[in-house]
Amino acid sequence: MPPIRIRRSDATFSRYVRARDGKCMRCKKLGEPDKDGLPITGLQCSHYFGRAGNGTRHEPNNCIALCFGCHQIWGSNDREAYRNFMISWLGENGFKLLVIQNNTYKRKDEVMAYIRSKALLDDLLAQRVAHHKRITA
Ligand SMILES: [Zn+2]
Repeated sequence: MPPIRIRRSDATFSRYVRARDGKCMRCKKLGEPDKDGLPITGLQCSHYFGRAGNGTRHEPNNCIALCFGCHQIWGSNDREAYRNFMISWLGENGFKLLVIQNNTYKRKDEVMAYIRSKALLDDLLAQRVAHHKRITA
């Protein structure tokens, strides 16, 4: 399989997923703050269904933050454990919907994927700011 190029939308979406989770969803290791204070350093954005599938490439329910070691384990060696996690996280029906979404053809649209990923990230950052204001007020 040829290498899959990382697009601007992927980089933004990855930031969103890692900031949303803030820790490895397998071993619970926390992400270290990056230059903007987001707890994402040391975490990777793992796609349950790989990035080749445009239907789920930028789907928040398809992706979780994992540390490098756990990404290696769930990404290649222990797919069954990864699948079980996804089912417990999304529920049986949520997982079925994700499978359908992955099997549904979706045209590549880099501009919309970037806009959507940016909106998800901006929304998350706004929630973090609002939460910080509440606990420091
Ligand atoms: Zn881990």
